[in-house]
Amino acid sequence: MAEILAVNDHAVEATLDQSMPWQQAMKRAIRSGSELCRLLELSSGLAEEAAELDFPVFAPREYVRRMRVGDPHDPLLLQVLGGRAEVAAQPSGHFDAVGDLAAARSPGLLVKYDRRALLITTGACAIHCRYCFRRHFPYDAVSKSRLGWQQSLDVIAADTSLDEVILSGGDPLTLADSSLSWLVEQIHAIEHVRRLRIHTRVPVVIPQRVCDSLLAWVSASRLPLFLVLHFNHVHELDHGVVVALRQLRQAGATLLNQSVLLRGVNDSVAAQRDLCLKLVNHQVLPYYLHQLDRVQGALHFEVPDAEALAISRGLQSELPGYAVPKLVREIAGEPSKTIVGA
Ligand SMILES: *Cc1c(COP(=O)(O)O)cnc(C)c1O
Ligand code: SF4
Repeated sequence: MAEILAVNDHAVEATLDQSMPWQQAMKRAIRSGSELCRLLELSSGLAEEAAELDFPVFAPREYVRRMRVGDPHDPLLLQVLGGRAEVAAQPSGHFDAVGDLAAARSPGLLVKYDRRALLITTGACAIHCRYCFRRHFPYDAVSKSRLGWQQSLDVIAADTSLDEVILSGGDPLTLADSSLSWLVEQIHAIEHVRRLRIHTRVPVVIPQRVCDSLLAWVSASRLPLFLVLHFNHVHELDHGVVVALRQLRQAGATLLNQSVLLRGVNDSVAAQRDLCLKLVNHQVLPYYLHQLDRVQGALHFEVPDAEALAISRGLQSELPGYAVPKLVREIAGEPSKTIVGA
């Protein structure tokens, strides 16, 4: 108990005065299930090493301190702790559930939908989410360097139908600001690109990543910038995160959220309603609620469509229209995300 409190106090300060750089928060992240259980005063039997071999545990302390000590069902813990269910036989899970490999135009550049090019900038994330559809993505084959990105930029520059670039990953905000601003400069130079989008979970897990230098290039962006965040539970919005959201908004970014419907984490009308209300109260619009991609090792998080639709209808009746995310699923080969139940 003493240890987690000490960790907590430190993290609170860092979040408020940004005295600990985000890079250090990445270095200090918890990297094993047994360590996580120890900090949260849980039986180490909950951690499953076999699951970690395939996809290591990675959870920054800033995120861990929002978990409840002693609660094995904590909705944030369940997102990061590799458990026995992952290694149990799950015969129908896929390794490339969403057809990413077929959509690559150059190493790390996916064009699945009209107008939008998605650039995988890095394989690194600030957290490892156990349900991640990219947990099996062959990141080694994508470019994480300027030289490699140049190839993707050339493809975008040559295709005038592409008017939006999405930086994704992994998580683009794990890159150094110098790399990011270089990339954004190159994108700005392509005349037919009119919008820039960043898919990121970093501000959710390490809010001090929203540092002065990040805010400086966000405010300097000449393209409308859409930041699509990834919150799954209302407990993820603590004070430090709320401050970071305000700063991003004030720097001119439009904030959206996508979340994944997850068994045991947020699979009720109440959990979704509380999350959506807190988001809109901080001017983040719920964008998508994703049905799980059926990847190997994550099927225990799946919520059947009938139940997902019932949750979605519950949200429609309880919330203002702008606070209701679209319930979608990604189906390989379809021209857009597919609305569930439509
Ligand atoms: C999800 C996705 C997009 C973005 O789709 P929107 O419906 O515009 O949010 C773009 N490209 C790829 C490859 C995607 O997977
Ligand atoms: S942050 Fe996003 S890409 Fe990274 S593990 Fe989590 S869901 Fe996957």
